[in-house]
This record gives sequence, C-alpha cells and structure tokens, in this order.
Amino acid sequence: MRIVIIGAGVIGLATAWRTAAGGAAVTLVDPAPASGASSVAAGMLTPVSELTYGEEPLLRLGLASRDRYGAFAAELEELTGLDTGYRTDGIIEVAFDSDDLKHLDDLRRFQESLGIPVEALTGRECRKQEPMLAPGVRGGLLAPADGSIDPRRLAPALLAACERLGVRLVRRRAARIVAEHDAAAGVGLDDGTVLPADRVLIAAGPWSGDLEGLPPGTVPPVRPVKGQVIRLRTRTPFIRRSTRGLVRGSSVYLVPRADGEIVLGATQEELGFDTRVTAGGLWELLRDARELLPGITELEFAEVTAGLRPGSPDNAPVMGPTAMPGLFAGTGHFRNGILLTPVSADILSAMLLDGPVPEVAGAFAPGRFATEVRA
Ligand code: FAD
Repeated sequence: MRIVIIGAGVIGLATAWRTAAGGAAVTLVDPAPASGASSVAAGMLTPVSELTYGEEPLLRLGLASRDRYGAFAAELEELTGLDTGYRTDGIIEVAFDSDDLKHLDDLRRFQESLGIPVEALTGRECRKQEPMLAPGVRGGLLAPADGSIDPRRLAPALLAACERLGVRLVRRRAARIVAEHDAAAGVGLDDGTVLPADRVLIAAGPWSGDLEGLPPGTVPPVRPVKGQVIRLRTRTPFIRRSTRGLVRGSSVYLVPRADGEIVLGATQEELGFDTRVTAGGLWELLRDARELLPGITELEFAEVTAGLRPGSPDNAPVMGPTAMPGLFAGTGHFRNGILLTPVSADILSAMLLDGPVPEVAGAFAPGRFATEVRA
C-alpha cells in the first residue's frame, strides 16, 4: 500500500510514523516540515481545562488522547533517543475577579457532572500551589491529570521516528490531487512531479483546502485562527506547572519547560493568513499575565511568534475518508492539535490501513458537514 501524506505538522508526522509502523510505504510531502502551528503551540495537554459547553465528543477525544500520551511519548523517546519535554504535573486554572471565579465554578460543576475529577481551590490554596500568584487571585481549579509537552521537541522526535521507519520525506509543496476514474491516485508537486498513491491523506493544517483537483466540498473548509505567543526565560524556578487564568473574562496561560522557558499565550484572532506579531496582541498577553503573576516583568524576553490554528466549521477535527475515494482528511484540530496527536495518529493510521478504528473517531468524519448542508 502506497500512502502519500500532505503536511508534516504533528498530525501528518505522527500519522506517517504509525502508518509506516503498520507496514505501508509512506511518503510525507512538506516544503518546511513542522513550520506551521506545531512550531508555535504552547503544548498544554488539557482536555479538562479547555472544556467548553456542548463539546462532549471533543472532550472524550481529548481524554482518550491524554490517556495515550504517556505510552506514546515513552515509545517515541525510546525509538529516537530524543526528549519530548512531556510532563504530567497537572494544570492550575485561576480566577482574577469574582465574575471570573463564577465562571470557573460553573466550569467545575459541568466537569463534575461528566464525572471528571477536578479540585476546587481557594485563593490561599492557589498560592500554596503556585507561590508567585498575585495576592488578589480569588480561587481556582486544579486538573491533576493534565500536563504539557514541548511541541518544538515533539515534532523533531516524530520526524526522527519517521526516518527510522523508512518514511520518505519530500521537501516540496503539494500542488494538486491527481485523480483516476474519480478516485485519488497521487499527488502532483509544485515542480510537476507526480507521486503515485493508493491513498492520500491531507494533513496540511489551515492550508488543507488549498490544493487543485479537489472536487468542491470534498475537504471541509478549514480556516486559519491566529494565535500570538511570547516566549520568556527564567534562571530560577517561577511556576511549577502550567497556569491558566481568567482575567476579567479573558484567558491567558503560562506553560513552563524544564530548561527555564515559559510560553505565554495566546491571542485568538480571525484575520485570515496573517501571521504578523502586533504590539496590541503582546500588550494584552503581558497585561493579563502580570495581573496574575506580577513577577513576570522580571523574566527575560526570548521570542514572539504567531501561528495559525486550523479551525473547522464546528471547531472540531475533521478525520476520515472524504467523498473522493482514496482521499482522506486529517485536519481541523484547532486549539487542541498537540493534545490530540496520539489519538489522531491511531485513528488516521487505522483508517489508512483498513484496521480497527478507535470508537471515539465517530463524531469527526468529514461527511458531517455535507449532511448539514443537505438538511
Ligand atoms: P500544522 O502544524 O499547521 O502543520 C501543517 C503543515 O502543512 C505545515 O508544516 C506546512 O508546511 C504544511 N503544508 C501546508 N501546505 C502544504 C502543501 N500544499 N504541501 C505540503 N505541505 C503543506 N494545541 C494543543 O493541543 N495545546 C496547546 O497548548 C496549543 N497551543 C497553541 C497555541 C497557538 C498560539 C497556536 C497557533 C496553536 C496551538 N495549539 C495547541 C494548536 C496546535 O498547534 C494545532 O492544532 C496543531 O499544531 C495542528 O497541527 P497540524 O499538523 O494539523 O498543522
């Protein structure tokens, strides 16, 4: 079975690894592997803290992925000898004012109604967990089973795993889907070369609809949602674990790494394919972060970046066979692509190899949008 995967972000890379491990001949096409959202993301692994009302299927997918992460990261690290920065020290979510606290209380009740363990903390208990928090912090939640990974370590490790398993990496842009008898039969590159394939997976993040030869509606529209992040540096311990905060209704987070890096994020902006870093975006992040952790102004500034989250019409991933035989989609992972990498790789590789597909995949088929349009 010859499989071509378009896009070497975390989703394309992890699927290529798992599909090659299943015995297929896999070619991965990307002019700049891991240059998309996967190189910008903070890497929080938090299905619980990010929970939004009405997103229960996504929550189940997130929990399934979080539960796979330990074994996934260990296997990857053992195969490649590379550290992924995986940690499981929980995530604390704190409230700045009484309205923010009310929102967190609602969130806690909702989580408890779904049987998800989460611990409510008073302001004092929050500061006991994270002594650098501002004295005014009103209270919070601790999600003890959540964690984080460093996407800038994860992607190179996945690339190394692909190389180990004989995945062919073609550093070119895929320009079109080549069809024979209305079925996908290969991928045409920007230099005119055609890579023949039995099956093609589009995992090109927000660029997934940007290929010639796609019949209209084959791949659901995926839009870019911009996120700006700041990378700071500390020589002395600052926060122990990922810390999210609600500050007058707006959300901010800080994710620490073992090497002293702290990722502060993230804006959420619907501005098309714009990746400019703006003064206003950075100011909002620093303003809100300083309300929660006044000491951040002492940290060393390292980097600012903006990335594009791939958002589908319902903000949930789009995974599975499309209306074109032989063509599969693996995109739309929006704010959760790093968290969802292990489960997405299991789902997509099983689909590409005709293996048993994990049950949680059911809600995320590309066809769900076509049905909505017909109805
Ligand atoms: P991408 O990483 O965007 O990769 C797409 C790849 O496709 C790129 O390498 C690109 O070069 C390639 N490509 C594009 N067009 C073509 C073409 N024509 N031919 C060949 N290749 C092509 N998720 C979490 O779980 N936790 C977080 O804490 C988190 N924080 C985030 C913070 C920010 C600021 C942002 C922007 C995202 C964050 N995310 C987070 C979301 C996560 O980063 C994404 O969901 C995930 O990276 C999507 O991975 P992907 O492989 O689908 O796409």
